[in-house]
Amino acid sequence: MISRRKFLRQTAGITAGLTIQGNYLSAAGSVFVGKNYEVFIPIPLQVVIDDVGWWSGEDGHEKQEPYRTGINRKHVPADYQAIADLGKALGIRPQAATILCEWDKENILRDVPSSTWMGRNWDNSGWVGPWMEEAAEIIRSNQKYYELTLHGVGHEFWEGEKFTRAEWHDRNGHMRPREEVEKHLDYYEKLLRQHNLGLFPKSFVPAAFLHSFGPSEGNATSLALILKRRGVDYINTPFGSIFNKERVQYGIFGIDDDVMTVDRGRDEFSWMTFPGDPSKELTGPTCGMHWPNMLHPDPLRNSEVVKKWIDYLRPFNDKQNMMLAPDSVYFQHQLAHHTLTKINLKGNIIELDFSATDNLPANIGRKEFTVKIITCKPVKLKPAGIKILSRELKKGKEFMYVLKLMRKPDKSKAIINILT
Ligand SMILES: [Zn+2]
Repeated sequence: MISRRKFLRQTAGITAGLTIQGNYLSAAGSVFVGKNYEVFIPIPLQVVIDDVGWWSGEDGHEKQEPYRTGINRKHVPADYQAIADLGKALGIRPQAATILCEWDKENILRDVPSSTWMGRNWDNSGWVGPWMEEAAEIIRSNQKYYELTLHGVGHEFWEGEKFTRAEWHDRNGHMRPREEVEKHLDYYEKLLRQHNLGLFPKSFVPAAFLHSFGPSEGNATSLALILKRRGVDYINTPFGSIFNKERVQYGIFGIDDDVMTVDRGRDEFSWMTFPGDPSKELTGPTCGMHWPNMLHPDPLRNSEVVKKWIDYLRPFNDKQNMMLAPDSVYFQHQLAHHTLTKINLKGNIIELDFSATDNLPANIGRKEFTVKIITCKPVKLKPAGIKILSRELKKGKEFMYVLKLMRKPDKSKAIINILT
């Protein structure tokens, strides 16, 4: 028999889709506690790092320059290596939400005056140098451990000499004029091409977290739809500052023109904390931070701060009801299953019901996901209607089977037999 006290201690408060203090803890149906077995569809954790891409560390907002990272040194290639090192150590693909204006080596942004503080006189020559290719090479050669996520061209929106927040939506939740939005996206792509940084990103973090779920007032089109046409299928932003939140369908996430939009929740640190020393329990699926939180004032010592984040994040993988998502695509599938797939345990049979999950757009929840099964003695697991891609056994006081499953097309239900 599994110790009830231990279970309650580890999962306090997560039993029935509870929302405590505005934090998301666990979805109803994703946990089943039986007499001899416990089954979990764990919450996936995704690391998202904002405001990557600046070369200057200066917070320039008082002189109508952007809110950059606000650190007292320049950014260097070692700051990109820190992200890749975090990913490599944990076997994950952190999202680097990236601003690209200071990567412009041809001053093409003169054509988009609303994207920078210099408008038509844009001159970025001071930031052009060999460090660009060095950082680009780190990004290119660490694709498995580094995801470049769209954040913005210049982060704010300039009209004449002055900016307002932020690049994609204003403070009242109105999207910037459609032709401006499209132009900023066109030029984001051109900047990626200047440095051979890969295809247009598949994910987006709104600058200053100003975003409307669905079309904002006066617009026929949502930003999500504009982004979807360029290949973005996932947005991560705190719902605390999202506009038209009442349209969100599933609490922790919503589907906006087929784009999965996930609540980031609250970060442990302010954007100015440099460096951060993480310790707080995560209560939602995103471990959000800003670039300075994971860097050191002396870039040669970045690894000391990265190690703190590695030591902080790794244990989440051993929790019954959590896991580190290997990348943001797996993250979306797992979050969908965690939220909508129902588990039932009848005797020795685990039943999985995907009916609600299959109401989502076809790119979500149809393939791989992870289940954790806790038993008090070794067992054999025999699936029907679903394939076990891999299984891992973690032995402690109890036995934790971590199963990576692959759905079979057109099966809305599946079972796993527990054989003793
Ligand atoms: Zn930002």
